[in-house]
Amino acid sequence: MKIVAAEFLTSAVNPGGYPPGDLPEIAFVGRSNVGKSSLINRLVNRKGLARTSSTPGRTQLINFFKINDRFIMVDLPGYGYARVPEEVKARWGKMIEGYLKNRENLRGVCLLLDCRHTPTAQDIQMYRWLQYYRLPAAVVATKADKLSNNQWAKQQSVIKKTLSLAPEHSLIAFSAETGRGRDELLDVIKDWLQA
Ligand code: GDP
Repeated sequence: MKIVAAEFLTSAVNPGGYPPGDLPEIAFVGRSNVGKSSLINRLVNRKGLARTSSTPGRTQLINFFKINDRFIMVDLPGYGYARVPEEVKARWGKMIEGYLKNRENLRGVCLLLDCRHTPTAQDIQMYRWLQYYRLPAAVVATKADKLSNNQWAKQQSVIKKTLSLAPEHSLIAFSAETGRGRDELLDVIKDWLQA
């Protein structure tokens, strides 16, 4: 799939703010600082589209980006940021869950994990949740340039084991730095859009 156009559409905190219409949507979810903005920017090859920042937890809204006038990428707020009050965490959780559970336009979800780390309890919970709602999903291990092939081979089995990764879900090593995994992930997204 070739991405020829990408534009920011809107931000939302609740269903009233989601974009109208029936364009299919592909969502991205993961811990804050996992590299979600960098991944989206790399996928569309537009450096400043999704905001990247070294301050975790800054992206607190659901952001919608229209791609090729054909589908929408949905950047869900990062979870797991420690230094925010419990009530804010609960609100983010509801925002993410509310979107994933009820959005009819949704065709697939990319769950992002840092390739170097063992999935956290929240990552596992999110993965179970996607399975429970039978959402088409892929697990994307970010910052893959930080591991050697050997280290990645080991980490891959840690991630598979920790999540009990189902055979129908791909695990894709991705690097926003080198572009590794970009074509593979775009192929998965293309399949979801054609299903
Ligand atoms: P977000 O909070 O999930 O949107 O994460 P960001 O995209 O803002 O990235 C968080 C930090 O990780 C930033 O300092 C990025 O430069 C860094 N980062 C993101 N992706 C990669 C990657 O593929 N490789 C490397 N080496 N660093 C990355």
